[in-house]
This record gives sequence, C-alpha cells and structure tokens, in this order.
Amino acid sequence: MNVATWNGPLWNNVLERRRRGAMPHALLLAGPAGLGKRAFAAALAALLLCERPADVACGRCRSCLLVAAGSHPDRAEVKLELRDDGKTLRSEITVDQIRLLSQRLSMTAQFGGHQLALIDPADLMNTAAANALLKTLEEPGAGTVLLLIADQLSRLPATIRSRCQRLDFLLPNAAEAMVWLKSQGIEGAAQALDAAAGNPGLALELARGGGLALRTEVVTDLAQLWVYKASPAEVANRWAKADAERRTWFAAQLAQAEAAAQARGARGPLALTAISDFNKLAQWFRDAGRVREQLRTPVRSELLLLELLLAWRALAPAVRRA
Ligand SMILES: [Zn+2]
Repeated sequence: MNVATWNGPLWNNVLERRRRGAMPHALLLAGPAGLGKRAFAAALAALLLCERPADVACGRCRSCLLVAAGSHPDRAEVKLELRDDGKTLRSEITVDQIRLLSQRLSMTAQFGGHQLALIDPADLMNTAAANALLKTLEEPGAGTVLLLIADQLSRLPATIRSRCQRLDFLLPNAAEAMVWLKSQGIEGAAQALDAAAGNPGLALELARGGGLALRTEVVTDLAQLWVYKASPAEVANRWAKADAERRTWFAAQLAQAEAAAQARGARGPLALTAISDFNKLAQWFRDAGRVREQLRTPVRSELLLLELLLAWRALAPAVRRA
C-alpha cells in the first residue's frame, strides 16, 4: 500500500528518526478514519522488516514477500476478533489478545531484525487490555516496534498515550484531496469531499457506498424539523434503525456548515430561516458529538436521538412554529 501524498511529511519524519537510529519503540498513529493511517502503518511495518530498505520497502526481498503474504514471523497484528458466534466482530480488543502479543514479543525476532506489532484499533482496547499493554510499553524488547492506530485518541488511556510517540494525521488541503479522489475514479469528487467535511477517505467511502443519499435524507429531516413539518419521534425512530452514528455525524456537520454560511450572509446547506442564537447552535453541535460517542455503546439510541432532535427543533425561530 502506498502512503497518501498528504502524509508525506509524516513519512519523512519517521524516515529521519530511523536514519538517526532513533526509531521509537511505540508509535501512536492518531487522527480521524479516512486519512490513511492504516496504509501508513502497513508501509512502515514493511519498511522496518525489509532486508533491502530504501525510502520504502523494496517489495522483492524474502521479508517483503512474507509481509505481502501475511506470514512474516516477526510481524504481529492485533485487531477486533470474531465473537463466539463466529459472525460478528467483538466491540473490544481483549486482555487475552494483548497477553498473547506480549508473549510473542518477549521472544527473539526470527529474522534477527525488528519485531513489529500493529494494534488496530488501539482505542478499542478494554481497560484490562490497556493495562496489560502498559508493561510491554514500559519494558519493550530490543528491536520491538509497536504501531498503535487510533481514530478516537480520547478513548485511549493517558498512561498509554504518554508512553508512545504520537503522529497526528491531519486533513489535507482541498486541492490535494481532489487530486487523490479523481485518481480513485470518483465522479462528483467536490460534492463528496464537501459532504465528508474535507476528509478524502470518508469522501471516497461516501461516494462509493451510497452515503451521499443518506446525507440528503438528513438534510431533508433537519430542514423539515426546523419548520415543524416532521415528527421528531418518527425521525428518531428511522435514524435509530440504521446508520445512527453516521446520520448524527452528518447532522452535526450540516449544522456547523449552516451556521458558518449564515454568519457570512450566505445560504447554507440546510437553507434554514435565520438562526437566532448561534451560542445555542454551537451547544447543539457539541451535544451531537456527545450523542455520537454514546451511540457506539449499547444504549437506547432512539431516546438519545429523540432528545437531540427535539433540541434541534427548539432552536427554530418561534414565529415559524405552526
Ligand atoms: Zn524488501
């Protein structure tokens, strides 16, 4: 996998550390999903294991071939495993998985080079798993490099964060993102990038996976609620049934874009009647973020959404209420 062009500076940063012999034992790759963290981690793991490395892994040596086949003995990957039903993924990385990894890392590298471990998503380790990992982070074996990948940095305990060198993945500028989206064969790249609030990976996913239609639905719902033409209960019920988290994310982004447009006297994506209280809208934006977090956990999502949508309707100017 190639490192995305906008992650070039981060890549050079790591290369520079490696040249100085200052490769950290633990790197934390942090930032929203869709910015290329996983491709970056895969490319870095390959580079560190490569027997003829240059600025990237050679792709042809014994190590590179084994990495490509997924069977390099010094490369371990910890990810969400299947539940006992054999069908659905667990929601957490468990302590047993981390213990197994630690055992493996305590042995010498079979090829005599680095021992690589990727933990993805590291922010979904449960508390016991995170505690078990601390010991490995405190006393890493020589040549061990752990790559932790986290879409939601705040979910990682501070004790873990403080023992890793952090690489922050940031949004590329729009021009760079557009070039990349077009190279992926995306039609209407500008619209997708706008819907994804500038995140190219998310834009790709939205364009390919019908996400733009979902966003259009959210636009209609918010606009209809604003003028009291939709029922919050009906909308909450529909949102709770499918893609609740994604819909809430769209709603928050749309509210923010609407506020930004109105503040400069332009028409926003929701085409709302004048927003009277920007402070309340900002509060609503924060509430939507909180609800999104809660939707990841087993809660009564319909109730949470209903509360959020009622709060949205309460923001509408009173004169419009029928
Ligand atoms: Zn190689």
